[in-house]
Amino acid sequence: MKSSGKPLLDVCNLGKRFEARGEEGDRWVVEGMSFALYEGEFVTLIGPSGSGKSTLLNMIAQIDIPSRGEILFRGEVINDATRNRASPGCGSRIGYVMQDDNLLPWRTLRANVEYPLAIQGRLNHKTRERVDELIAAVGLSGFENYYPHQLSGGMRKRASIIRTLAYDPPVILMDEPFGALDAESRLHIQTDLVRLWQRGEKTILFVTHDINEAIALGDRTITLTKSPACVRGEHVIDIPRPRALDSIVTAPQFPGLFTRIRAQV
Ligand code: ADP
Ligand code: MG
Repeated sequence: MKSSGKPLLDVCNLGKRFEARGEEGDRWVVEGMSFALYEGEFVTLIGPSGSGKSTLLNMIAQIDIPSRGEILFRGEVINDATRNRASPGCGSRIGYVMQDDNLLPWRTLRANVEYPLAIQGRLNHKTRERVDELIAAVGLSGFENYYPHQLSGGMRKRASIIRTLAYDPPVILMDEPFGALDAESRLHIQTDLVRLWQRGEKTILFVTHDINEAIALGDRTITLTKSPACVRGEHVIDIPRPRALDSIVTAPQFPGLFTRIRAQV
């Protein structure tokens, strides 16, 4: 949407090689990958299963170290092959919603959502208020004291998303977050996510393998090649917002976008 000025996040000629395991030799999973994210953008990333999408997000989130290339945040190198240890989350500036909700089973919903704030020593009156607001915004009011096993899959997913939003990182990475949900919960959470994104100055990189979802949510969709992953193409999603997520296929721009993206994945 706002692809002007300096990128917020810059992925430059990134590569990742995993060492031999069993019969297999060393293998490049990501190779020569370059793209940029601009402030306030919602970018969707689509690629075949096993193509290295999670590996890419892990490197951006600093959970893993690249074999080649570098990642910059506001022009500063935050990850490259010279690191010998990971420093996850870029000082809380990069949030990561992983594929599994990984809530802590022995903590209530509220305590889970507050957990990153507590670790960062930022749990106070004001941040607690923000947590309340987010819980209400995704329809979880009344469930604050429930434990994860007492919640549905959709509710746990919403909790894991607001846990990341609660500490307010400017960049949020999301790895196929809605894949396991039924169609109705998925639509509900997609709608919540877009609303929350539109409220704040968030930049989102959202991995999916669903073309409809990539189009419905994104300002821009990046397609990846098969392993080793690198950028295959970029598509501006010129469907005006607010969008009717449940009937995105009826947007006049949809068929053309779908065909062009489909041809690349
Ligand atoms: P995607 O998220 O696109 O489905 P992944 O990034 O999870 O793909 O994995 C890409 C490839 O890298 C897969 O073939 C996977 O088996 C391999 N891979 C992922 N992590 C490791 C690891 N730690 N060691 C070796 N191979 C790995
Ligand atoms: Mg993955």
